[in-house]
Amino acid sequence: MHRTCLLVVSITFTLSRMSNLPEAEDSTVIFRDESVFSQKLQKFIKSGISNFQIVADFDYTMTSWAPSGTCFSVIRMYSGFGEEFLSKTEAIKNKHLPIHLDFSLPEEVRKESDYQWFTKTIKCFADAKFPKTLIPVMLEASQCRLRAGVVEFLKLAHRHNIPVLIFSGGIKDVIDALLEREGCYFDNISIISNRLKYDDKEVMVGVEEPFITASTKLEVAREDNYFKNVIRNNVLLLGDMLSDLKMASCVKHTDLLSVAFCYHEKDREQYRENFDMLLMGNPGFDRVNELLRQIVGERPDKTEL
Ligand SMILES: [Mg+2]
Repeated sequence: MHRTCLLVVSITFTLSRMSNLPEAEDSTVIFRDESVFSQKLQKFIKSGISNFQIVADFDYTMTSWAPSGTCFSVIRMYSGFGEEFLSKTEAIKNKHLPIHLDFSLPEEVRKESDYQWFTKTIKCFADAKFPKTLIPVMLEASQCRLRAGVVEFLKLAHRHNIPVLIFSGGIKDVIDALLEREGCYFDNISIISNRLKYDDKEVMVGVEEPFITASTKLEVAREDNYFKNVIRNNVLLLGDMLSDLKMASCVKHTDLLSVAFCYHEKDREQYRENFDMLLMGNPGFDRVNELLRQIVGERPDKTEL
């Protein structure tokens, strides 16, 4: 294939200092082409912070892969809704997740399946008739959490006033609650994601249209004013799926550094051909923070404000 033109450098990255966190064990870092990566990085550094922005996916990019790290899972797995709810939403997930993850299927098939998965799940949520105030409670009961180092990443971006867009097919209400809980919902962060709809008693009744799923996030969000207001030429893009790369087409830019969290070994080759850097396994954000520190010119031992 393109093996000969791909300079692959794998290094073992040990995070023994953080061994209390399940995801922070070992990670393999893989570059598509290390020299191109370095050239891009140098260009980002030279261009300065004022030309730099960050666009990140949320589920499984900012959250940990295992055991269950999605916005939807926070509500879908809430035991307070009873066995029937749990088995129903689990069955919907089991039907559609394999299609979602099967990149060999035609895009239209995956897109339609994602849509069905989304609408059926939202219907179950609405049937549960939960109040808005239950979201932080469900979050607390869930195992959804930010990857180790994400708070530091967001603090670092905030210190340098770098626009961070979280662009997600998840649920904005859950992302809001998680960032608020962790004390890192700063004013340089914008979130484009699905907004739950509530009635006048603040009971969840559905989701605002248009729906944003992993496969439609571009089409439905391309016109968002964010992309008209934030014009910065150098983009650091963080994702965990090939489709996340499409986020770059929403943002006017000249240069892109793309980083993927790649959990499945079977996806390694395909991801390597498409992303500048892969972080294999389920690591924390240490490597990303290292990269960001280089771009903003901050030393690792900088005291946090
Ligand atoms: Mg994701």
